[in-house]
Amino acid sequence: MTYAIEGSTGPWEVVVGLEVHAQVISKSKLFSGAATAFGAEPNAQVSFVDAAFPGMLPVPNAECVAQAVRTGLGLNAKINLVSRFDRKNYFYADLPSGYQISQYEKPIVGSGAIEIELADGSTKSIGVTRLHLEQDAGKSLHDQDPTKSYIDLNRAGVALMEIVSEPDIHSPDEAGAYVRKLRSIMRYLGTCDGNMEEGSLRADVNVSVRKPGEAFRTRCEIKNVNSVRFVMQAVEAEATRQIEVWESGGTVRQETRLFDSARGTTRPMRSKEDAHDYRYFPDPDLPPLVLDKAWVNELGKKLPELPDAKRARFMAEHGLSAYDAAVLVAERANADFFEATAHRRDAKQAANWITGDLFATLNRTGRTIEQSPVSAENLGKLLDLIADDTISGKIAKDVFAVMAETGEAPDAIVEARGWRQVKDSGAIDAAVAAIVAANPDKVAEYRGGKEKMFGFFVGQVMKAMAGKGNPALVNEAVRRHLSP
Ligand code: ADP
Ligand code: MG
Repeated sequence: MTYAIEGSTGPWEVVVGLEVHAQVISKSKLFSGAATAFGAEPNAQVSFVDAAFPGMLPVPNAECVAQAVRTGLGLNAKINLVSRFDRKNYFYADLPSGYQISQYEKPIVGSGAIEIELADGSTKSIGVTRLHLEQDAGKSLHDQDPTKSYIDLNRAGVALMEIVSEPDIHSPDEAGAYVRKLRSIMRYLGTCDGNMEEGSLRADVNVSVRKPGEAFRTRCEIKNVNSVRFVMQAVEAEATRQIEVWESGGTVRQETRLFDSARGTTRPMRSKEDAHDYRYFPDPDLPPLVLDKAWVNELGKKLPELPDAKRARFMAEHGLSAYDAAVLVAERANADFFEATAHRRDAKQAANWITGDLFATLNRTGRTIEQSPVSAENLGKLLDLIADDTISGKIAKDVFAVMAETGEAPDAIVEARGWRQVKDSGAIDAAVAAIVAANPDKVAEYRGGKEKMFGFFVGQVMKAMAGKGNPALVNEAVRRHLSP
């Protein structure tokens, strides 16, 4: 056990299982042809099926089913060729049918695993229990009118994948890494955009604590946490709360709680419902969902290279460190940018520029890599200018700063500003001779044994040449002029 929270009675282990709700990328809903685009006018994307008009029948959307299968394959999970849709019955003002179509006993995807990377460079496998398809509910709007609540059914019927983890997660960092990795895999697959601000990815966070070596204790479920940071904070806050309850002689009751991000604490929402409260039963409007093995295999063959495979390849093929490779593969667009930049070039150098200067620039200006003012092509050209000695690594930093500002190509910047490296030994000799002549006292010190003075001369020559002198040639000339 590595992570533990220290209580008054000693260390406590934290146990976490996550239920992630991921909105499926699809043009239309799970059982109707209504559109799913984000940000439409309220109730503009609602079919009679979504509004549960009498006699309307659901028809499964094959693309949503394919997306769930792709996700299952991406999680190395078992694909169940026969699954079933069930009704989960409950009343909600924004659920006109009075039930949600979900999958209970027979989900479309069975057990799999997600490998997470931790800050210390280690990896850990977290079990995935299942993935099932279900409908989203609508949305109640309570802040539009002082006395009325409004209902927006645009989301009603949109396909969600609920991905349930085993209680294998044991720290806030592991919980954060799990959500980030799951999101990364789904973005690679194109099955969920992972946009937590728009609600396309939400997590229910189940937390319990126990003394090392003990059986599991009662858990609480924190509903609808909508950012990675909040997931991590919720784990820590809830574990700390439960430890206090146990240590003060109380008992943790199983309940559903909410995370208050302003206070950084959790508070009760309702006592936990049990499966039997929902009166699950097979939806009589839908036959069992039977998949063709050949169709599943075809989907598997068309999967893109996923983050783990890409990371391994970046290490083997490009010689990147595990850390750099992990950073670059987390987002597919970053990985693509890297490969375009590194093509036939020094890959480690390319990785350094991207994870260093480029990411710093993008962070500072709040841009994504797709909006980068420096294109992969231009960054590649900058590397070429360094490699063929047109500019020094130091001047390259200045060139990059201009590229980030203006989006110009590096060769144009170097020409326009006269930043080409000086390799003409006559010009370098003249600059060195001038500095040597101007500093007889320093020359004497150097010749008297003060080796450190060498750096002073190199610095002065570089300054006189506006940083453009070829470093190797300048060094060589300084040594020659200073030798007695
Ligand atoms: P339910 O259907 O009531 O939500 P599940 O058995 O499906 O319950 O579990 C939901 C989640 O709770 C899973 O992610 C699971 O890993 C997690 N979980 C189960 N037991 C514990 C526990 N003692 N502590 C923390 N998480 C737990
Ligand atoms: Mg649950």
